[in-house]
Formats: sequence, structure tokens, C-alpha cells
Amino acid sequence: MRAAVFVEKGHIELREVRRPEPGLGEALLKLSLTTICGTDVHILKGEYPVRPGLVVGHEPVGRIEALGPGVAGFERGDRVIVGAITPCGQCRACLSGDGAQCSHGGERFESLGGWRFGNTIDGCQADYVVVPNAQANLARIPESLADEDVLLCPDIMSTGFSAVERGRVRIGDAVAVFAQGPIGLCATAGARLAGAALVIGIDSVPARLAQAKRMGADVVLDFRQQDVAAEIRRLTGGGVDVAIEALGQQETFENCLRAVRPGGVVSSLGVYSGHLQVPLDAFAAGLGDHTIVTTLCPGGKERMRRLMSVVAAGRAPFRELVTHSFRLAEIEAAYELFGHQRDGVMKVAIRP
Ligand SMILES: [Zn+2]
Ligand SMILES: [Zn+2]
Repeated sequence: MRAAVFVEKGHIELREVRRPEPGLGEALLKLSLTTICGTDVHILKGEYPVRPGLVVGHEPVGRIEALGPGVAGFERGDRVIVGAITPCGQCRACLSGDGAQCSHGGERFESLGGWRFGNTIDGCQADYVVVPNAQANLARIPESLADEDVLLCPDIMSTGFSAVERGRVRIGDAVAVFAQGPIGLCATAGARLAGAALVIGIDSVPARLAQAKRMGADVVLDFRQQDVAAEIRRLTGGGVDVAIEALGQQETFENCLRAVRPGGVVSSLGVYSGHLQVPLDAFAAGLGDHTIVTTLCPGGKERMRRLMSVVAAGRAPFRELVTHSFRLAEIEAAYELFGHQRDGVMKVAIRP
């Protein structure tokens, strides 16, 4: 089968590899659609280390090709998605409600342990992928939805919404979302869905600010044109209830602290590298009753079912975020376009 393989820093290549077989509790999916994540670009650049030879990709849409022993309630041919994070459903982390930090059957907690596809096991930018702990992770796609409708559920929607949920957004809140890439746009939609009365989207790309309005932002601010934290404090009488960081950089994290009210929540979903510093003036010297929370994309079949129900209910135009389409054979070109953010790209659909 064909698969996008991490070869070395700066080099992901489409190669012929052996088609895997599903083992105990596993399923083999034939992919019909997948995409490239910003995290895959970090892997390509060597900023997030994975082992050479690994098949990358963690956002699968497809059909069940074969089931290993011990998977009940599913059949060959079922159309499914699987979350980017594949909790086992049985370890200490999973049973503590922290499936993203799953130790896949182990006894010890393991940071990021639930993220396995394209990280610690072969991923889904390929013709086929093996799904671990299939019973907990296969999620049937409703008849009424096309593959393209649910492409963002495995990671982008789940992560964006999770920042809202972890930030405990309440009805009537003011929420600012820093960076309106695909995940930030889903956080914007999520804040609106959670009942925020004022949603502020921040970016500098006009098309992204326009999309933010379509996803539910009431106000959009361009950080190149003004001091956005000062403007947010002015609009809200001293700061938002919840500030969401959706980029993973010092500047946006700091802006969140400067834009949140005393007693408010900074909810961070970005992936950081190097050091992250807390400026004490923005942090009220540690006396501002602030809460800082982080999130990793929640997975599992029930999470996927809920997200697909949001898509089916037409709550926001999620499908508009998929701006480009490539064949799997063209995936290296797709990395080139997406990695350099050319041609107004938001998300790319990859079709095996
Ligand atoms: Zn991702
Ligand atoms: Zn687990």
C-alpha cells in the first residue's frame, strides 16, 4: 500500500509499504479521506520528533476493511471516523476521564499517551491504517453526512471545542480567541455554541477574520493594526472571562494573559516549543485569581459521535474550512502548499 512516511527532518515521502493486519482488538480501515495537520508540519520540520520510517497522519475517515478478534458491534464496510487520539478506555488515565493522556493498558500515567496515530504507531496518510482499541474508537458516520462533512471531527473540531470546554465558558461570557487558523476557528464556533454573548476573534489574515465572523465571532481584531489586548479590555470593561490561545507562541499566550479579566481563565490549546514565560505584570504578580488550563484533543467514539451530531445539526459552516483537495499520490505537493500556507489554504483534503 502507499503511505506518507517520515524519512528524516525536512523529508516526508510517499512510499510503498506492507499493508498491516489487524490484531486482537484492532480494526483495519481503508481510508477514503484524511488531511494534514499543523502538527504534521512540526514533524516534517523536525520540531516534534518521531521515529524515521513512521507513517504520519492522525485524522482518518474510511471504511472497515477487516476486524481483528474481539471487536463487537461493527462490520466490514461500515463507514467510520476515528479520533486523532485513541484512548484504550481501560487504563488509569482513561478511567479517570483523561483519555488523551491514556497509557494504553499500562499502569503509569503518560503525557500525550493517547496520541498514537502518526506519533508512536503508524498513522493514516496512507491507503490503510490499523486502529488500536477499535471497540472504543470506531465511530460510525451518520447516513446524512458525507466524508467531507466529518473530516474535521477527529482533531480540529475536537481540539477547538475542548479549549472552550476546558475554559468552562458559561452563558453570557465574553471570550477572545487568539489566532484563527482551523482550530482557532472551531474554538470560535465552540464559544458561540457554549453560550458566549461576545466572541472576539484575533488574527491578521483578512480571509481568516472574515471566516471567523462566519463561524460566530461578533468582533474581529487585527493584531497588526492595534494593541488587541488593550482593545479587548476596553470592549469588555477590564478583560474577557475566557481567553483561548490557539497558536502555541509566547506572544499569543502573553496576549491572553493581558486580555483576560482578574479571576478569568486562559485556556491554551497551542503546541509550544522552547520556553514559555509568564510576565508578572500581566499575571497580577500571581494574585489575580487566574486559571490557566491546557488541552489535548479528546478522542474516543462517543466524542466523535457528539461532534458529528454538531455537524449534522448545521451549527456552523465547518466544511468551508477545507479549502483544497489532493490525491494521496500528490501528498508531497499538499505538504508544500499547506506547510507554507500558500494560496489562502486552511485545510487540505487528501484522497487515497
Ligand atoms: Zn493534529
Ligand atoms: Zn487508556
